[in-house]
Amino acid sequence: MSDATPLPLYAIGLGSNRRHARFGDPRSVLMAALAALEGEDIEPVDASPIIASDPVGPSRRRYANAVALVASPLPPPEMLERLQAIEADFGRRTGQRWSARTLDLDILLWSGGAWSDAALTIPHPAMAERAFVLGPLRAVAPEWPHPLLGRSVRQLAARLVRAKPVDRRASAH
Ligand code: ATP
Ligand code: MG
Ligand code: MG
Repeated sequence: MSDATPLPLYAIGLGSNRRHARFGDPRSVLMAALAALEGEDIEPVDASPIIASDPVGPSRRRYANAVALVASPLPPPEMLERLQAIEADFGRRTGQRWSARTLDLDILLWSGGAWSDAALTIPHPAMAERAFVLGPLRAVAPEWPHPLLGRSVRQLAARLVRAKPVDRRASAH
């Protein structure tokens, strides 16, 4: 059945800085994660190139980052639940005790606008300060307006390059 109304869109930020026993290096983790995002209620629309970004802070590992656009009727809390289930799948390492997560999936933007509850804030609060988010996001959704800042992703990215701010939350990715 074809949809009369377009489905809501989500921009999902992907990050990894650890190898996965099966999938391999962070870049391969992200490629596998992009595939894992697809599901009955989640339709892939576009994906940015995967970039390598230098971590700020004590970790010397490089991150792989990307942004996926997906269409989904799921409300934001259910989307978050889905993303956390995928993160958990990727975090499992057989034969080892719990170790740091290999995959971070954040909801950056939702076409429904802003969302805020105890567990979830959309737009992602740090997105406008993070080059590793805005770079890949600009590749897939340059004209998407930030619903609270009133500027497009392209404008936010340009502003970030000019201002060269320090990302105080960068080590969290
Ligand atoms: P950062 O949010 O600075 O990128 P992080 O991604 O490393 O940090 P996580 O450990 O992945 O942080 O998530 C911590 C909590 O953030 C999650 O349990 C989730 O409830 C909450 N959260 C709030 N807003 C969002 C969002 N937009 N996308 C994903 N998680 C969110
Ligand atoms: Mg996260
Ligand atoms: Mg994050």
